[in-house]
Amino acid sequence: MTTQGPSGGNNLDPWYDHYADRTAGLSASEVRALFAVASRPEVVSLAGGMPFVSALPPDLVSGALERVLRDHGAEALQYGSGQGTTALREQILEVMALEGIRASIDDVVVTTGSQQGLDLVSKLFINPGDVILAESPSYVGAMGVFRSYQAETVHVGTDGDGLIPDALRESIMQQRAAGKTIKFLYLIPNFHNPAGVTLTWQRRLEILEIARSNNILVLEDNPYGLLYFDAPPPHAMRSVETDGVIYLGTFSKTFAPGLRVGWVVAPHAIREKLILANESAVLSPSAFTQYTISEYFAHADWQAQIDTFRGLYRERKEALTSSLAEYLPELSWTDPTGGFYVWLTLPSHLDSKSMLPRAVKELVAYTPGTAFFANGDGRHNIRLSFCYPTPDAIRLGVRRLTKVINGELDLLDTFAGTGQLDDVTLNYRVSSPPPNID
Ligand code: PMP
Repeated sequence: MTTQGPSGGNNLDPWYDHYADRTAGLSASEVRALFAVASRPEVVSLAGGMPFVSALPPDLVSGALERVLRDHGAEALQYGSGQGTTALREQILEVMALEGIRASIDDVVVTTGSQQGLDLVSKLFINPGDVILAESPSYVGAMGVFRSYQAETVHVGTDGDGLIPDALRESIMQQRAAGKTIKFLYLIPNFHNPAGVTLTWQRRLEILEIARSNNILVLEDNPYGLLYFDAPPPHAMRSVETDGVIYLGTFSKTFAPGLRVGWVVAPHAIREKLILANESAVLSPSAFTQYTISEYFAHADWQAQIDTFRGLYRERKEALTSSLAEYLPELSWTDPTGGFYVWLTLPSHLDSKSMLPRAVKELVAYTPGTAFFANGDGRHNIRLSFCYPTPDAIRLGVRRLTKVINGELDLLDTFAGTGQLDDVTLNYRVSSPPPNID
């Protein structure tokens, strides 16, 4: 017989009873488990949120790398400051100004991707048993961090305009009545991962007011704000609130995630602690990649490159939503105005998680909605990412997905004939894909 250790391992691991309690929260995300399967070339992957870095002009990148080594080699290959280089923090101010944020270079702490920003902020604030409020659904990678610090993520109602202020008020009351400590409200206001929705300006202001009057910090995570298709989203929440907002930014989507450079903007006292936490985690963020980004931003027309990304992702989003409209018109989905993700709702008797192996067999992958909930919800949802496959591959992927969904419905029909699923409504049928499905 095997026994479960805190890490979810078992006594075949000789160290299983040595692990810290918090490792119980460490589990491979559903997204990560999928990467292995979905990376096979014959699979159309609508699963991972990988930016299409091949659209970066190679000579602009190699030019930046060459200049770093030629002109700044000694500093770039050395340890650096725990807060990040001054030059990069100045450029970060320029990037954030596009979203209405005014800050000083002292306010910025460079991190190893915004993922590390999530980790550092969690490390500073979370005690075991604390509550983090988040949208419903929320980013799987953030919830994994909160869990690893033994916090409980509590989802707050969200609709097509983002988090619902009344639901937030209600949730704060409920949690406090239950004796819970709310540490912060985690939000992705622009082109939400996974929901694809954007928080309206009016709601941004209302939510800031609720947070202020309830003494709750807001953690604003904004990786996608500059990747709008037509019009920019409302300004960042940090643009109107400096004391109550910690802001996370990243170069992963506007430049390249392989460099692993993001940043945190935080009120003075928090920022001082963040620098100490950053030093304790990594000594200093990579000087080499910071110099590379600085060179790229100094010499390339980076705003034009972001424009190129916008056009590319807009075309892919169109390919996805127009195929959904053609093949699965009875279903509903969000129609994002930027970013990488569409959130699809299945008929309530289909289960996106148990359908996934069949989908992979049909050579299409997606992320089941359950990945984005801490409470097991999301079985009738799917996150579809349109950032990486070409428009043709996306259309093929949707045709394959249609075949899978129809197959599931046929299966239910068969069971219904045996009387086993009498309570299931089966007058549901999605349009058939054309014969040339593969
Ligand atoms: N936050 C959100 C909402 C994300 O979607 C991602 C990447 N998928 C991250 C944070 C982390 O990004 P990075 O560490 O590459 O900056």
